[in-house]
Amino acid sequence: MASSNLPVDRSFESGVLNGECPGAVLPPECLWKKKKNGFALIECPQRIPCNPCATSCPAGAVRPFADINDVPRVDYEKCTGCALCVAACPGLACFVVDLTYGEDLALVKLPYEMLPVPSAGDEVDCVDRTGGVAGRGSVVGVSEPLKDHTRVVSVSVKKDIVSDVRAIRTVN
Ligand code: SF4
Ligand code: SF4
Repeated sequence: MASSNLPVDRSFESGVLNGECPGAVLPPECLWKKKKNGFALIECPQRIPCNPCATSCPAGAVRPFADINDVPRVDYEKCTGCALCVAACPGLACFVVDLTYGEDLALVKLPYEMLPVPSAGDEVDCVDRTGGVAGRGSVVGVSEPLKDHTRVVSVSVKKDIVSDVRAIRTVN
């Protein structure tokens, strides 16, 4: 069989994305300052046959796919920060970040499918892409938009860790 001459992208071969991957990079300040409810980050850099992020978005903010294998791209102008994509993504790859939440605090809305389900007011460990603790956060709210046991947990965190926090761990 003839081998492809295309370069092989090994940037996510370890399975751990870094903050530089397409979809993880924060938009420019002039855009996020307008986003009082936040905007979506979609960390899904591989072509796979999947599209609930796009089909669930009520604002058309995930750019239309030419085919189902397309890599999702967010139109930040259209995104309302509603977090429906966070609840719909089977790969837990969608997040919403609100950098207008406070002077030093940001709000991160992330998917959560573990037990126990946290409650507003809980202090939690904020976990990075490697499973390491990036810092502490405070749960602001928990919703279940699709009523399918995937929760969307909103956590306030220090702004300087917002690009690292991708999960939470409840603490006793
Ligand atoms: S946060 Fe809401 S508006 Fe933004 S991409 Fe996700 S589903 Fe669409
Ligand atoms: S729904 Fe999630 S896993 Fe599927 S393409 Fe969209 S971001 Fe990737």
